[in-house]
This record gives sequence, structure tokens and C-alpha cells, in this order.
Amino acid sequence: MADSLYDRYMAADRAHREHEGQCTSCSPETGCETGRRLYESLARLQDAYLNRLRNEG
Ligand SMILES: [Zn+2]
Repeated sequence: MADSLYDRYMAADRAHREHEGQCTSCSPETGCETGRRLYESLARLQDAYLNRLRNEG
């Protein structure tokens, strides 16, 4: 079953992890500019995904 929101959430998660794995300036507390941007979009998608799960009950 296709779920584009879930797919985008997973893709953002993967992109963020891959960046963290490669980036030497990212740390758990402070990411570099790209790391922060990836994290923000991951957090936004995660919120949207969890909200939808809650609303669908
Ligand atoms: Zn980084």
C-alpha cells in the first residue's frame, strides 16, 4: 500500500542518518547547516505523520 507521507518521512529519516554518518561537523547536540535543515524537515514530517496516525485513531 502506497503511503507517500510515510515514504517521505522515511526518506527524510534516511537522508538525515546518511548525512550524520558522513558529516564530520555534525554532533548530536549541534548539527551543521545542512544537518539542521535535514533534521527540521524530518521533524516536520514526523509530526505530520504522527498527527495523522492519531487522527485516524
Ligand atoms: Zn552535517
